[in-house]
Amino acid sequence: MLLRMSSLFLRTLREDPADAEVPSHKLLVRAGYVRRVAPGIYSWLPLGKLVLDNVARVVREEMNRIGGQEVLFPALLPREFYEDSGRWTDYGDQLFRLQDRKGGDYVLGPTHEELFTDLVKGEYSSYKDYPVILYQVQTKYRDEARPRAGVLRGREFVMKDSYSFDLDDAGLERSYELHRSAYNRLFARLGVEVRTVFAVSGAMGGSASEEFLAPSATGEDTFVQCTNCDYAANTEAVELAVPPAEDPSGHAAMVELDTPDTPTIETLVESVRAQGYDVDASGTLKNVVLKTCRPGEDWELLVVGVPGDRDVSLDRLEGQFEPTEVAQADADDIAAHPALVRGYIGPQILREEKVRYLVDPSVVPGSSWITGANQPDKHAANVVRGRDFEPDGEIGAVEVRAGDRCARCGGLLAISRGIELGHIFQLGRKYADVQGLDALGADGKPVRVTMGSYGVGVSRSVAAIIEQSHDDKGIIWPREVAPADVHIVATGKSDDQIEAALRIAGELEERGVRVIVDDRKGVSPGVKFNDSELIGVPTILVVGRGLADGVVELKDRATGDRTEVALDGVVDRVVEVVAS
Ligand code: ATP
Ligand code: MG
Repeated sequence: MLLRMSSLFLRTLREDPADAEVPSHKLLVRAGYVRRVAPGIYSWLPLGKLVLDNVARVVREEMNRIGGQEVLFPALLPREFYEDSGRWTDYGDQLFRLQDRKGGDYVLGPTHEELFTDLVKGEYSSYKDYPVILYQVQTKYRDEARPRAGVLRGREFVMKDSYSFDLDDAGLERSYELHRSAYNRLFARLGVEVRTVFAVSGAMGGSASEEFLAPSATGEDTFVQCTNCDYAANTEAVELAVPPAEDPSGHAAMVELDTPDTPTIETLVESVRAQGYDVDASGTLKNVVLKTCRPGEDWELLVVGVPGDRDVSLDRLEGQFEPTEVAQADADDIAAHPALVRGYIGPQILREEKVRYLVDPSVVPGSSWITGANQPDKHAANVVRGRDFEPDGEIGAVEVRAGDRCARCGGLLAISRGIELGHIFQLGRKYADVQGLDALGADGKPVRVTMGSYGVGVSRSVAAIIEQSHDDKGIIWPREVAPADVHIVATGKSDDQIEAALRIAGELEERGVRVIVDDRKGVSPGVKFNDSELIGVPTILVVGRGLADGVVELKDRATGDRTEVALDGVVDRVVEVVAS
C-alpha cells in the first residue's frame, strides 16, 4: 500500500497542542498520528494505526515464539467475575462500571485474570493439558485519576496481557523466565531502552514481580539503580542498606526528658544535646500519623516510624499498600485517640492503644532512639525496639535519596525516572484458589494450578519510544515500528520530480520496502522537508533539482547524514539501507 501524501488522510500541525506537556504527546498530535476525543481517550489516524499495529505485531511475534497462544476476550464483562475475586471492590473508582437495560452490572475490563482463569477451568481438566500460556492484545479501560500525556496514560488503552498456567512452582518460574526473555527481545526490537527493576507484588499476594521501565525524564515511576552491582528496583520496592540489628539488652534504661518547646526535630535535637545526649536528627525516631482504607472498609489509623532526618514518602507507601489507600491523618483522626499527643508521639503506647505501627527497616531490631514520651513537652531517650516497643511490621517508608546505599553490595544508589512499559508477575494460586482451578494429577488427586500474569502497554510503548527518540524537528522512529521505511520527498516546479518519485516508490514497493511519497503539487519544499522530519520515517529520499543530473539525495533521519546517490542505483541502495 503506497502512502501518497496527496491523498493520505493526514494533517500535520505547526503548533503544539495547548494541552500537551510531554514531547510524545506534542509530536503524536502535531504529526497527525492521534487525535483527542476526551481526556485519556484518543483516536488513531492512518499513520498512527500503522505504528500501533507494528508494535502489536512485534509483541505477538515474541509471544508466539515462547509458545503463547492468542485469544480475544470481550471488553464488556459481567460483574460476577470481578465480584468473586474481590476486585469489583478493590478496583474502586478505577473501574468503569455500567448497566444493561435490565439493570445488570457490567464493567469495561481493566485486566483479565478472572476471565482467563475461568476459561482454562472450563476447557482443561488433566495435568497432561498443562502448562499453557494464553495472551490477547486488547483494549483496556481504567478510569485513571490523572489521565495524562496523551496515550502515555490513557483511560482507554491497548495492552497485551498474557497468563501462564502451571502445575508447580518450578513451572511458574519457567513461564516467568520465558516472559522475561520475550520482553527483553521485544523491547529491543521496538528500539526502546528498558531497565528491568524489582517491583512490589502488593496486594496481589504473589511473589516475584518485575517491571520494564523505559528511562525517561517524563516517566511517572522512580527507580533506583546501584552504581556498583546490577541491582535495580522501583522505589516502591527498593531495599536500602540498613545498619546491623543490635542487642536490645545492651542499652541503658529508658528515661524521660523535659523538652519544652520542641515542636520540630531541630529544636528537639538542640534540647537533648543540651542535656548531654550526643545525637543528631538521625538518632531521633519520628512517628508520622497516617491512615489507611481497605476498599469497602473504614479508615484506620496508622503510625509510621522513620529516623528523624528522613521524610516519609507517601508515594512509596501508596505503591506498597495498593489497593488499600493511604493518606495523611488530620487533626480529627488523631483527636479520636486522646493518648496520642501531637508532636510528642512515641511508639511505647501504640500497641496498648491498638494503633497499627510500622517502621522503616532502618529502625532495626534492638536500635535505641530518642522519641516522643506521649506527654506534652516530654520526650524519652533510650527507647529500644524489641524492649520498649515492638512494631507490627516493617515497611519501606523513607523517601529514597542520593547517598542511600544498596542492600546487596553497599554501593551508592542512583535515582532515575522511567515509564512502565511492561510488568511480569508471579501471581501464584490466588485466582486458582478463588475460582477452584485444579488439574487432575497423575495419581488421580487434584493439583491446584499456579499462575503468572504479564502485561505490555502497547499504546503506551508508542509514546515511550518517542520520548526516547525525537529531536526538535520531530519523531525519529526505530525502523521496526516506523509507519514506513522511506519517505520520498519530491521537490521542484515541474512534474518531473513527482513522476520520478512515484516511479521509484513503485519499484521500492515491489521490493518489499514500505514507502511514503510526498507527491503533493504546489506545496513548498520547506513544508515537505519539515513534514518528513516531523513524521519521522528513518530514511528520507529527496528527489529534487539534482534529478536533471541523474542524482537524488538520501538522508538518515536519525543522524542527519546526507549522501548523493545516482538515480539508477537508488532502489538497490535503499533496499540495502532498509535491510541493514
Ligand atoms: P501504572 O503503574 O502505570 O498505572 P499498572 O501497574 O497499573 O500501571 P499493569 O496493571 O501492570 O499497569 O498493566 C500492564 C501494562 O499496561 C503496564 O505496564 C503499562 O505499560 C500498561 N498500562 C497500564 N495502565 C495504562 C494506562 N492508563 N495507559 C496506557 N497504558 C497503561
Ligand atoms: Mg504494574
